[in-house]
Formats: sequence, C-alpha cells, structure tokens
Amino acid sequence: MKQLIYADNAATTRTEEKVIQEMIPWLTESFGNASQLYSFARQPKLAIKEAREIIANCIGALPEEIFFTSGGTESDNWAVKGSAFGDPVKHLTIASAIEHHAVLRSCEAIERLGYTISLLKPNFDGYISPKNLEKVITDDTRLVSVMMANNEIGTIQPIKELCEIAHSKGALFHTDAVQAIGHIEVNVKELGVDMLSASAHKFNGPKGVGFLYIRKGTNIVPLLDGGAQENDRRAGTENVAGIVGMATALKLNIDNLEKNIERINALEKRLIANLKTTGIKFVRNGGENGLPGLISLSFEGKDGEAILHRMDLMGISISTGSACDSKDTEISHVLKAIGLKKELALGTIRISLGKNNTESDVDYIVSAIGTIVN
Ligand code: PLP
Repeated sequence: MKQLIYADNAATTRTEEKVIQEMIPWLTESFGNASQLYSFARQPKLAIKEAREIIANCIGALPEEIFFTSGGTESDNWAVKGSAFGDPVKHLTIASAIEHHAVLRSCEAIERLGYTISLLKPNFDGYISPKNLEKVITDDTRLVSVMMANNEIGTIQPIKELCEIAHSKGALFHTDAVQAIGHIEVNVKELGVDMLSASAHKFNGPKGVGFLYIRKGTNIVPLLDGGAQENDRRAGTENVAGIVGMATALKLNIDNLEKNIERINALEKRLIANLKTTGIKFVRNGGENGLPGLISLSFEGKDGEAILHRMDLMGISISTGSACDSKDTEISHVLKAIGLKKELALGTIRISLGKNNTESDVDYIVSAIGTIVN
C-alpha cells in the first residue's frame, strides 16, 4: 500500500510536535490540580492563565471571556442550552439547517422541553441569507446560532451581518467556529458575536479540549454544574495539558495564518485544475467564499462511500459527508438542505487539505480519483 496521504483535516488534524512537547510537563512532573491552594498548584494555575491570555489574544477577546470546555460539542451544547435556560421569557431559538449536529441536536433537546426552534434554509451555495433571518426573527428570539464555516462544504457565512440582525431584536448570537478558528482570521469584537465555539483538534491541537468565548455580560447559565472552576461557570478539574496544548497550537496557526492560507489555496487550485484535465465530470459544492482546502466534490451516478473505500485501499484518507456522519449512509443533512439532487449527493466526497499536505499528495489524489471514477 502507498504511504498514507491524509486529506481529512476537517475531521481532525495532526497534533504538532511542539504542542506535544509543551503538554508533557503538565502530564508528568507538574501534574497538580490547578484549583488547589498549595504551592504545587501554582504552576498549572499560571499555565492556564497564560493559555487563556494567548487564546484571547488570537481572537480579539478578553481573557475572562474564554471558558475552557471538552471540545466543540460541549461548547455548542452550552451555547444553545445555556442561552435557552438563561431566559425565562424568550422561547425561540433560530439556527441554520446546516449546523453541525452538536447544535442541531441541542436544539432538538430544548424543543422537547417546550422551546421553539426555527431553522434557516441555505441557498444552493450554502449561504444563510440575512434577509431570511430578518423574516423569521421575532422579539421572542433568545438565540440565533449560525456556524462560521460549514464542515461539509466549507461555505463561510456573513456572520457580522447576521449578528447585527439578531442584536437589533435583542437576541443573542452564537457562532460555531470549530472549522474556522486557526484557518481563517477570526476576531470576535469585529464580528460582534456573543458566543463562539472552538475545538483544539481541528487546528493541530489535542483532542478533548476546546473553548467557548462568552462576551462579558452575556447571560447564559452553566451546562455542567459542580465545582467552581472557570469562574464558577464550567465545573470540572481543568485539563491543564490540553489547555496548554490548545493555546500553543492556536498561536502557531495564527502566527503562520497568511502563509498557510496561501499554501493551502495553491494546493486546492492545483487539485481542481488537475481534476479538470482528466475530463471527469464533477460538481464542486459550497460558496465562492469558502474554507481554504475544503473541497466537496460530487460525481453523478457514483457512490461516494465506494470512492472513499477505494481511495482508502490506495492509502488516501478522505471523507464522504462529515466525519461525524460517516456511519450514516443517508444523504447528509447539509447536502439535502442546499438542494443537491440525490444522484449527485450520493456520489459526494470531501477532501480537506491541511498545512502538512504537499503538491505530490494532491497529484496522487487526482490520479486516484481518475482511476476510480473512470
Ligand atoms: N462543530 C463543527 C462545525 C464540527 O466540524 C465539529 C466536529 O467535526 C464539531 C462542532 C464537534 O467538535 P468536537 O469534535 O470537538 O466535539
């Protein structure tokens, strides 16, 4: 079998060596519980403080607006449920129909408790129109949640505009930025959002750690009750190594953001140009304004899952819909929502290039698609 070519960076990314090195002390000699009062806890406590400052700096937030969580799923659950439960009067939560299941299933959970949910439909490119939000939003709206960039088709949403509409009706605005953070520029103050979710393993950090940005003064209740960690808003012993690893990974990506974007965009262009020269017919899903390296391709009449398995045999890791959906052989909710016809949706694969991919990876991927699809 050929050497592994990893092209599923939207599912997860390789943890940087520097990140691992920065994490090791907090798993070995400095293993103390950061919330204890003795001097052995001082170093981990300080490490968490520094990590919070680094992360806040990377996204234009204040350190006290960063709350560490176990990842994107928890952050999304907290934003949706914590907002609904934090207001006794307003009952409507609006989300896009192409949110990750962490948001959609949280919406379903609060709907079962009597809250009202309204889902915004995207257009064919995956954009959520501010005009549509204006039509649906009411004074009873507690939260609007629209992801910054879609994990299946890569479309980047007009977050600032959507957020302004939410605020004009007195609603909170949350964005799931799990796919965006560390890959495109994100500044919470410029966007004006009240909450933003992130997950370290999507930007070359460790798995099982993330954060929720909560703008100062935002009234949401805790999701996890227990100890007084995270300023009494998120209980649980701090994952010191994970938090330090996440801050290291984010800073590394942000320091090299322009260079990475340029490189990945060049690889993406090469892949599409080479694929066109094969003469294979394909449709590229997603909007013009998309995540660098996220390439959703549909081959009419083909079976996306079969393509995935054939590529796997050739040493290439890609995805069909999203990784979280990969056990589900139904058409993904995202492809359904954009209105992709079934014959194309079933023949869809997602290639997501990252900063470690090379031109020869891209050329091998194209030649593999050529062999398989023909
Ligand atoms: N939100 C989006 C857009 C994602 O792509 C994912 C993971 O695929 C998540 C949330 C969940 O993040 P985590 O794996 O950290 O729970």
